[in-house]
Amino acid sequence: MEAEFIQWLRERLPAHPRLLLGAGDDAAILSVGQSQGFVITSDLLSEGVHFVFDSAGASRVGRKALAVNLSDLAAMAARPLAAVVSLLLPQHDGLRIAQELYEGLLPLAFEYDLTVAGGDTNCWRGPLVVSVTAVGETTASGFLRRSGAEVGDAILVTGTLGGSILGRQFEFEPRVAEALLLNERYTIHAAMDISDGLALDLSRICLASGVGAEIETASVPVSEAAYNLAGGRDFHREALLHALGDGEDFELLMTLADAEAERLLRDQPLEIPLKRIGLIVSRPGLWEVDAAGNRIHLEPRGYVHQ
Ligand SMILES: [Mg+2]
Repeated sequence: MEAEFIQWLRERLPAHPRLLLGAGDDAAILSVGQSQGFVITSDLLSEGVHFVFDSAGASRVGRKALAVNLSDLAAMAARPLAAVVSLLLPQHDGLRIAQELYEGLLPLAFEYDLTVAGGDTNCWRGPLVVSVTAVGETTASGFLRRSGAEVGDAILVTGTLGGSILGRQFEFEPRVAEALLLNERYTIHAAMDISDGLALDLSRICLASGVGAEIETASVPVSEAAYNLAGGRDFHREALLHALGDGEDFELLMTLADAEAERLLRDQPLEIPLKRIGLIVSRPGLWEVDAAGNRIHLEPRGYVHQ
């Protein structure tokens, strides 16, 4: 199967000026010019853990396997360059599944000018496992990280949050262009992508930065999907909990000095919503501030990897 698959794949991988030597040799060779720094990230998706194959379909799993890596590159404000894709395929129908995976993955790679440099494919008796490793480069504006949040920073998020299980978990657009633009024009102290839930991921920024955070719950951008999952517009609290705790939003979470955040919010330079949701504070932990100004301790709920 492997030889047939590699032949099929090579016909679908276009030449790219960055790819001096692509799939088919012992290793691929990239030409990456005068890059400031390389950014490497890897994600593993396993059937039964990260997706249910029958309902997701191979094409959507393939797209997602690359998209989660692009989202991690976005979190670092890195420009995508290349990826390698490794597949563990079930013995039954392996070739068709591999082809469908790539039918989902390749359009996203083209969209982000990322070249698929190679990978590996094996069949086994277990379920489908997809591993993508992506390489990116930092820009002249430098990279973003989790550990730079400062007391007094405003906390901002892109997009709307919650309810990704209703479809967004597969269809999300990684915020690569947005992160590059924001990093170029504004001074961002800390950033990450929201993969495991707003509260849990914000707690990670806090931990890395040695600070705490207050979330003004009335400002959290609750998605339509979160309302649908909660049962409708009347269930605001339930929808808010989805926005705080559901995973796989893949939006950007950032902290900026207050005045810089004001400038950014006035400019609204993105085509997607950009909202201020709270404040970095010195008191450790996460705090929910309601409309009346009451502070309640907030559990960092979210998706915890087993
Ligand atoms: Mg991440």
